[in-house]
Amino acid sequence: MALAPGIHFLKPSIPIYVFEGDQPGPSALIQAGIHGDEIAGVHALQELLEANLRPTHGRLLVCPIMNPRAYRERQRAAAGGLDLNRCFPGDANAEAWERRLARQFMDLVEDERPALMATLHESHKRYDKAADHPTFGQTLVYGVEPMPPIIGRTIERLNRRFESAQERWDPQYFPVSTSSTEVIVDAIGCVGICVETWMGFEERHRIEMQKAVVEYLLDDVGVRRI
Ligand SMILES: [Zn+2]
Repeated sequence: MALAPGIHFLKPSIPIYVFEGDQPGPSALIQAGIHGDEIAGVHALQELLEANLRPTHGRLLVCPIMNPRAYRERQRAAAGGLDLNRCFPGDANAEAWERRLARQFMDLVEDERPALMATLHESHKRYDKAADHPTFGQTLVYGVEPMPPIIGRTIERLNRRFESAQERWDPQYFPVSTSSTEVIVDAIGCVGICVETWMGFEERHRIEMQKAVVEYLLDDVGVRRI
């Protein structure tokens, strides 16, 4: 069953904001802070909520800090804990709280079945096609081919707004079958996107870029038309 509009909590205290637009439409779920050292997405979602982010159509669900313990420590995972992004689909009876939390989040997405699920990340290395190891800064990452058209359209808009060579955004196909986004895509068939800003930019700029990505994605999917 879908959640009523308002603020709900994954146990015990992780808020999920649920909004409904005046017009019918799809659902979108935006989440940040699954890695506690990747803060631009967390702050972007908090600032958008403070600025009264609301859907015009359908439903919008926002989880600004998926892993508050790791976020407080500004670490990828909480001390002694697991990488929450690798704990999906999770297990309600697991000893590790990350696995229990992942299961709660899976229950939520299986109930809501959003058309779009975006997870906001950051990366220390800038994207370089020629690198030996994959690098992610300034990419929209997807794990199922063909590339969802929303990614190409969103990148075009980003690259019109952020014009320097370093700021350039690229799409990146990088399937990670154990990542939360891909487990969710496999489970419900939504469009799943990992948004990766490059930490080489100062924090304020990364936050502005994350906000722009969220606004363009919500516009394109038809949840908040701008
Ligand atoms: Zn991450």
